Amino acid sequence: MIETNVENLLKEIPEKNPFGEKVTLVAAVKLQTAEDINRAVAAGITDIGDNHVQELRDKYCQIEGNPKRHFIGRLQTNKIKYLLGKVDLYHSVDRINLAEELSKKGAAAGVTSDILIQINIGNEETKGGFLLEACTEVYKRIADLPALHVKGLMAMLPIEHDEERLRRLAESMRAKFDELRAADKNIEYLSMGMSGDWKICIEQGSNMIRLGTAIFGARNYNKI
Ligand SMILES: *Cc1c(COP(=O)(O)O)cnc(C)c1O
Repeated sequence: MIETNVENLLKEIPEKNPFGEKVTLVAAVKLQTAEDINRAVAAGITDIGDNHVQELRDKYCQIEGNPKRHFIGRLQTNKIKYLLGKVDLYHSVDRINLAEELSKKGAAAGVTSDILIQINIGNEETKGGFLLEACTEVYKRIADLPALHVKGLMAMLPIEHDEERLRRLAESMRAKFDELRAADKNIEYLSMGMSGDWKICIEQGSNMIRLGTAIFGARNYNKI
């Protein structure tokens, strides 16, 4: 039941992380109907995150309650034009050329975009993003682009049963986030944590979590 899930999560998720920062809950809405997304928003969800450009376009006008819009999926440069001006925060800038195109197309349209740099923290072949070791260099290149504001970092932890390893990875993300923020006051968000690992992520300093299953239940890949 979506309403109960949202209600329970809003109670369970701490308002602040151990660093005293507000924790933002983003509902990951891939494969959910507009009706179900609207139920979640009516129940108290303030931020929603899409993975697929087509889904976002199909449902964009059907979402009520004016939630903040996040884009959390892999983005092809030829689809940027459909998102410009519609997305409050892009979490998944995982390639230099995506950043360059987002800046170029944004500049042409008069839109400056807020973005996060995606880090492949588990060094997994199946995931996008930059290696943590490359992050500072990547940040410098992307921060120089005219129509982008770098607002922080995003990561997906590996599926992993070794909690200590998860904590170490999350901790290393937080350390990099702190390092960037010490030099750039616009760095604000560490987007890290999904349904299976959000508690660990908040404990290690995440201030933005993206939950799908915990809100909507198991995804039905036949529904849409
Ligand atoms: C689907 C998705 C989530 C949410 O995953 P759950 O395990 O269902 O909470 C979070 N972030 C991204 C990038 C996703 O694609």
